[in-house]
Amino acid sequence: MKFGTRLIHNGYEMDQSTGALSIPIYQTSTFHQRDIDAPKEYQYSRGANPTRRALEGTIAVLEGGYRGFAFSSGMAAISSALSIFSAGDHLIICEDVYGGTYQASQSFFRRFDVDITFINATEAESVEKSVKHNTKAIFIESPSNPLLKITDIREIVRIAQKHGLTTLIDNTFMTPYLQRPIELGIDIVIHSATKFIGGHSDVVAGLVVVKTKELAKRIQAVQYNFGAVLGPMDSWLLLRGLKTLKVRLDYQQKNAQILAGWLADHPKVKKVYYPGLRDHGGRAIHFGQAAGAGAVLSFEIREGNTGKDFMERVKNAAVAVSLGGVETIISYPVKMSHAGMPRQERERMGITENLIRVSVGLEDIEDLIEDFEQALG
Ligand SMILES: *Cc1c(COP(=O)(O)O)cnc(C)c1O
Repeated sequence: MKFGTRLIHNGYEMDQSTGALSIPIYQTSTFHQRDIDAPKEYQYSRGANPTRRALEGTIAVLEGGYRGFAFSSGMAAISSALSIFSAGDHLIICEDVYGGTYQASQSFFRRFDVDITFINATEAESVEKSVKHNTKAIFIESPSNPLLKITDIREIVRIAQKHGLTTLIDNTFMTPYLQRPIELGIDIVIHSATKFIGGHSDVVAGLVVVKTKELAKRIQAVQYNFGAVLGPMDSWLLLRGLKTLKVRLDYQQKNAQILAGWLADHPKVKKVYYPGLRDHGGRAIHFGQAAGAGAVLSFEIREGNTGKDFMERVKNAAVAVSLGGVETIISYPVKMSHAGMPRQERERMGITENLIRVSVGLEDIEDLIEDFEQALG
């Protein structure tokens, strides 16, 4: 069965007890037990809730994993997944990881004596060199934010398997439609479902999918005890959003490809970062592990034309943090996602005052281009 069909027919598309085509929102905290000696499947919604279960089952099927888990945000999913490690463990995390993941590991997990090395994961050699006797895991993101750098997922898996390490990937930018890391050997896939999976800028949520039963037990223990679970209403919104994931992404990706090409030819644009462009350094690796370039790109405006001016002039796009919605969303990494990063460090990575990130939406591309043209001034 192909992916588009699996989005609609995956074994979780219907309420088993009533046949309802939309999984009901089981807005309940607890479940009556007729026989206390034989507890039912559902007892208390922190442990399990039927709406959340349908979502967790769906994402597991879509990613090709053993089990899925839904959390109250992408960060709750990431922090919960990282909570399977212990004091004294060493983790290797890619240096251009999502800002929230960077901060959580830096300021939070380090306080619990988890040792962390941030590394440029696009260089497999540096990853392998940073493996220590207590290393337990490698955490990557590909493509990364905001410069769309590509990490060779198979290469990371190879290093991890050689050293007996668990691999985690934040798959938010790609979704299981475009990239299924478990099929490439990754152990744990994480999503900010706030983005393309929800797809409508109306819910904050996170998902985790694991490859094995053993990992499922460890994540489930964190989900139940730490308790950052997703509510029934928000679970329902994700189930609803998922049904149109393929059509949304197909269209958004097509728009992104046209916009990226147009920007690359524009005299006021210095550089465009998008794996769909021929001159993107990681293009070959990306298309060896993913089915498309996605709908997020970044571009740098030429000197004297600051990103801030562009942001103020643009009309048909929201200026906001976040991405993956039906509307085009532009963000300004220097003042938004990477404001907390020291300037020197930021510029070393290529995140300048003139860099703008675009999450391309479902607008007609002619209108977007016309708007970007006037905003470039
Ligand atoms: C937004 C985002 C997160 C965090 O998710 P929240 O739902 O905002 O908590 C993590 N990783 C990536 C790549 C993101 O874009």
